[in-house]
Amino acid sequence: KEFRNNVKPNWCPGCGDFSVQAAIQRAAANVGLEPEGLAVVSGIGCSGRISGYINAYGFHGIHGRALPIAQGVKLANRELTVIASGGDGDGFAIGMGHTVHAIRRNLDITYIVMDNQIYGLTKGQTSPRSAAGFKTKSTPEGSIETSLSPLEIALSAGATFVAQSFSSDLKQLTLLIEEAIKHKGFSFINVFSPCVTFNKVNTYDWFKENIVNLDQFPDYDPTNRVAAMNKIMETNGMLTGLIYQDKTRKCYEDLIPGFAQEALAKQSLDITREQFDNLLAEFK
Ligand code: SF4
Repeated sequence: KEFRNNVKPNWCPGCGDFSVQAAIQRAAANVGLEPEGLAVVSGIGCSGRISGYINAYGFHGIHGRALPIAQGVKLANRELTVIASGGDGDGFAIGMGHTVHAIRRNLDITYIVMDNQIYGLTKGQTSPRSAAGFKTKSTPEGSIETSLSPLEIALSAGATFVAQSFSSDLKQLTLLIEEAIKHKGFSFINVFSPCVTFNKVNTYDWFKENIVNLDQFPDYDPTNRVAAMNKIMETNGMLTGLIYQDKTRKCYEDLIPGFAQEALAKQSLDITREQFDNLLAEFK
């Protein structure tokens, strides 16, 4: 069960994405997956490279489109564990339409966002997660927009699993990814993953000072959606841990009549070569 490959990541030393990669590899091994049972689909951005750094099926998609591809992979072969991943620019700007609809659709996949509150690959511009006043090359006087709240959006869109973690807390992050993989439905995990090169505000130290770990609230009930929304708002979205889980709702695949049979990718087309060629010709 070896999820490491021999590709050396070209992230900057200290980038938070290294921990996300390690956590996915550990979680996959801990839940007993085999490399051929896992598909990692990513979008564009520094974090999008992650699909090439894990020994599993990998698909490096296009900007903001990790989720449509991941959903297609899952529908074609529901026997695969599918993890989609990308950055906050990828998932919350160009990809936000897909993010909201994938959440409400509730396919049995895991979506991990590496949230560094800036565009790293293009050398440091304001992202949808940048705070008001954040100064970058694209907002030299400070951003006049407010940051969006991914946790509030996920909960509002009908998510059945919402969690948040921090690259420095590898133990918590690994456990949450394990729970997300085991969850029968769409699992959303936002990860504070610092960009050490371009974001000099939201640093490791800044997150350590501002994060509110759910462990501080022993009576917290993650099945209570209203309480989850209240706690997210009370903590200004800085909450980490398993924030909400609904185990009662069926996932999308289980609502499709007859879909529980053999995975589509493994079914015989049951046609002759000539019929297959004719079928292909229709699409040319
Ligand atoms: Fe990570 Fe930022 Fe470097 Fe990109 S630019 S690899 S996000 S530290």
